[in-house]
Order: sequence, then structure tokens, then C-alpha cells
Amino acid sequence: MKLPRFKYVEPRSIRKACEFLQAPQDEVQIIAGGTDLIMALKNRQKIPKLLVDISGIPGLKEIKYSDKDGLRVGVLATLRHLTAHPVVREKYPVLVQAALSVGTPQIRAMSTIGGNLCQDTCCMYFNRSAMVRQTLEPCHKLGGQVCHVVNASEECWATYAGDVAPALLVLRARVKIAGLRGEKVVPLHELFSCDGKRPHTLRPGQLVTEIQVPAPSPSSGGAYLKLRQRETLDYPLLGVAVNLTMEGEDGICKDASLALTAVDKAPVVVEEANRLKGKKLTHELMQDLTKAAIKRAHPIKDLCDLTATYRRNMVNVYVESATQQALQSVAKQFR
Ligand SMILES: Cc1cc2nc3c(=O)[nH]c(=O)nc-3n(C[C@H](O)[C@H](O)[C@H](O)COP(=O)(O)OP(=O)(O)OC[C@H]3O[C@@H](n4cnc5c(N)ncnc54)[C@H](O)[C@@H]3O)c2cc1C
Ligand code: SF4
Repeated sequence: MKLPRFKYVEPRSIRKACEFLQAPQDEVQIIAGGTDLIMALKNRQKIPKLLVDISGIPGLKEIKYSDKDGLRVGVLATLRHLTAHPVVREKYPVLVQAALSVGTPQIRAMSTIGGNLCQDTCCMYFNRSAMVRQTLEPCHKLGGQVCHVVNASEECWATYAGDVAPALLVLRARVKIAGLRGEKVVPLHELFSCDGKRPHTLRPGQLVTEIQVPAPSPSSGGAYLKLRQRETLDYPLLGVAVNLTMEGEDGICKDASLALTAVDKAPVVVEEANRLKGKKLTHELMQDLTKAAIKRAHPIKDLCDLTATYRRNMVNVYVESATQQALQSVAKQFR
């Protein structure tokens, strides 16, 4: 498959990149590792006039940690570097599990953490080749008036299926966004618009430059579980991240967070996890939490053999298993 024609620039500073990015978003695209974008260009899902390659901007690949500031990950750090970093491996197992589940070793070697967070939404119509798509009229995401997946829908239900976002959300990460007017740091969930057509809130002239994760509490632990057909290569059909902070091995829950991916237009934070704070994790409480998670999950029909109903039903199983694994991860610290 050939690439469409475009102009290509390699700015050497964030400011210069922001200047190039000022055009409307359909006309200009950032490229980092290119693993998501190149396929989108080849399939003509995106036909930008300009590609802004940010991979040469100095200082955006660093991974730093201090007990005071927590983890700072430059947006160009690859998933391979992130998952090999000794401090990340020791202190953020949920992040490592999620990042290691992305694609294949080759894809993780190219993929940047920023590109993973900013990847586009997908669906069984939009992600086909241009030739296949031509057989049907353009849908909402391509400027048309129909949805070919959710019949009669007036909105686009394309799914956000990034693996890393739910792990960062349960770790209460923040992202630094740069623009021509300066920088701002916002909670990660504010990066997502929950609009299948345009899944991020970035404005023309803006890019993500850093991910910030608070230092973990001493008695915390997490887990990420991913439903997929093959044990490698596949995007999640459901991803569940849990992070727990406990007072003692069988004690009271001091903090809990739960997030899902691949079941809506944005990664889903299940706010009901906050209700576990200050309580013992009883079977009834966990059942309430899984019920809340199921309510928040709206998977759509996919090209795979697993139906949307099956994937929704699996939320129950995956939330329970991820919570058990998170508890085991906390328990290790009391041994
Ligand atoms: C075969 C295959 C399997 C895959 N499997 C998975 C999987 O299992 N899980 C998963 O999560 N992903 C998967 N992916 C998708 C993709 O590889 C990853 O999401 C990857 O992390 C994207 O990173 P990148 O640096 O290559 O992004 P790019 O392709 O360079 O960019 C992706 C998007 O993000 C935007 N972008 C990049 N950097 C920034 C920034 N700093 N600020 C704002 N916008 C930015 C780009 O404009 C583009 O729209 C798969 C891809 C392939 C081809
Ligand atoms: S879900 Fe969105 S991208 Fe997919 S067919 Fe419907 S409108 Fe198009």
C-alpha cells in the first residue's frame, strides 16, 4: 500500500513543533514512532498535508524518578525503554504489564508512550482499507451522516483501544501539554474527549510532552489484564487496570482505582472504586464494583469472533481477577 503525498518537517524544538501544528487537525499530524499513524495513512483514514516528526526534539525521551516528584516520562520514551526501566519495573508493575501487552516486541521498540495515549479510535468499518470502505457511504468519522457499526446512531462509536491509558489512569497520572501560549499539566482523563470522531482534546498547535505519575504509596499494588484472541499482536478487546492501597494484608482499603479500555470511545475510569476507601474488601462490595464497571462498558461489534455481549460479560471476570492480582501484589510487600 502506498502512502499519500504529504510534506514532512522535523522540528528541533517544542516551540517550532507547535508552530507547525497550528493548522486544522485534519491537515497536520504529529508522527512519533509511526506504528499507528503509518497504517492510518496507508489506509487513507488520514490524509494530512503535513507530517510533523517530533522524534528529533531533544529531551523528550527521558525517564526520571524521585520520591518527591514521582515518575516523569518524556513523551518519546518507547514502550521498550519504559518496560525495561528498573524503577518503573519495581514501583509501577501495572504500567509495565499494560505496556508489555502492546503489540509485539518490534512494535514496542518503535512505539512511544505519547503515541500510545494519542492513538486514534478504531472500528470494523473505519479500520478497513480505502478500497473496502468505498463500498459503503462515508460514516460520521469520515464526514458522512451514517454509522455502519451502530445502526441509526447519530454519533460515532469508534473505540479507544490503547492499553497504556487505563494503567496510567489508575496511577492517577497527569500529562503536560505544550502550546504556543506555554505549558499546562492536566489529569490524564482530560486528554480524552469521549468523541469517537476526534478522541483527544488537544487543540491545533498543541502536543503532549510529558507524563507524570505520583510516587506510589508503600502498601499499594496493581494489575492490568487484557482480553484478546491471540496472546500477542492483538489490540485489547477489553483491558482492565486496578490499583489498590491497603492498610494491611487483609486490612482496610486506603485507596482504590479501576479503569477499562476497549469498551467505549475513551478509556473509562470507574469512579465507584472510590467507595472502597476506608472499607474491608468484602464480596458484596466487589460485586457492586463489578456491576458498576459493567454498566460503564459499551463495547461495539468487532471483526473478531468475540461478540460485544461476550466482551461485556467478561468485564465481571476481568475486574475480579485483576483485583485479586492487585491484592497479591500488595501482599508481597507485607512479606
Ligand atoms: C500490528 C499492530 C498491533 C498493535 N497492537 C496494539 C496493542 O496491542 N495495544 C495498543 O495500545 N496499541 C497497539 N497498536 C497501536 C500502536 O502501535 C501503539 O498505540 C503505539 O504505542 C503508538 O505509538 P507511536 O509512537 O508509534 O505513535 P504514532 O503512530 O507516531 O502516533 C499515533 C497517534 O498519536 C499522535 N501523537 C503521537 N505523539 C503525540 C504527542 N506527543 N502529542 C500529541 N499527539 C501525538 C499522532 O499524531 C498519531 O495520531 C498496534 C499497532 C499495530 C500496527
Ligand atoms: S463507529 Fe464511527 S468510525 Fe465506525 S462506522 Fe460508526 S461512525 Fe464510522
